[in-house]
Amino acid sequence: MKEGKGYKSGYASLIGKPNVGKSTLLNHLVSEKIAAISDKPQTTRNKITGVCHFPEGQVVLLDTPGIHPSSSKLNRLMVKTSLSVLNEVDVVLFVIDARERFGEEDDYALRTMRGIAAPKILVINKIDLVPKPRLLPLIDSLSGKEDFAEAVPVSALYNDGLDTLAGVVLRRLPEGPKYFPEDMVTDRPEQFLVGEIIREKIIRLTRFELPYASAVVVDDMAEGKQGVTLIHATIFAERVSQRKILIGEKGGMLKKIGSRARQEIEKRFGGKVYLNLHVKVKNKWRENDFYLREFGYGG
Ligand code: GDP
Ligand code: MG
Repeated sequence: MKEGKGYKSGYASLIGKPNVGKSTLLNHLVSEKIAAISDKPQTTRNKITGVCHFPEGQVVLLDTPGIHPSSSKLNRLMVKTSLSVLNEVDVVLFVIDARERFGEEDDYALRTMRGIAAPKILVINKIDLVPKPRLLPLIDSLSGKEDFAEAVPVSALYNDGLDTLAGVVLRRLPEGPKYFPEDMVTDRPEQFLVGEIIREKIIRLTRFELPYASAVVVDDMAEGKQGVTLIHATIFAERVSQRKILIGEKGGMLKKIGSRARQEIEKRFGGKVYLNLHVKVKNKWRENDFYLREFGYGG
């Protein structure tokens, strides 16, 4: 279908507890990896736009950090980001993990969203992890929940049910223009995507508080000789002890982070990459407005 009569376009937001699979869903709907994914909660700190192109229309997806009772300034900023996003969208996709009960935190998020006008679609994710006989009763019980216009079971990881979900979303979008050209899947600058890839490797390779205490800033990205892309990035930690872990014995950890990130950046953007990583300490950056802005959060 051409742009014009019948062509649909609009914004959909992904909301749900940390770890339910929002970023995976975003990546698989867009079919290109743009959001950091890990099995540790709160990997996604910014809103990320992914553009899904279909013959019938275009869905602009926003991944949000999630709505949950918050303690640190970074956390509160993340909730604020989420709520501001929800007021801009045509459809809200509320994602849950099929293995978990609809719990306290989900109810909290739903209550917080009461005033939001857009229809809410319940996405029951990770159905690959639930035995078939348990699935139907689960879907039945959740479909009955007020607040939701529809419920769609999917497995984001295995691309199961995603076509159905896309159809459900498209049906609820208004007729509209093609906001983005076909070859564009995100409005995030390359610098940001590179930073997210590096951050994902940190999250995967480190433990305890480190994944949460680390921020990545890409200082410079330039074309070098023979098509090599030169990237300089700084990893910020909150304490000297964290810096030590990030660097590792004889620099081993930083090397590992760097080489895994480099491989993925090369895959993502094509061509050879030279990646230079530094680790710096910024005491309590997660509580500091200046650094939160500096590191690209909530601005
Ligand atoms: P987010 O915090 O909601 O953005 O969650 P992520 O997308 O980062 O995913 C959290 C974890 O769940 C990752 O380890 C994913 O691989 C995993 N995951 C996401 N979707 C599925 C799914 O449909 N099935 C299974 N088995 N795992 C999934
Ligand atoms: Mg995420």
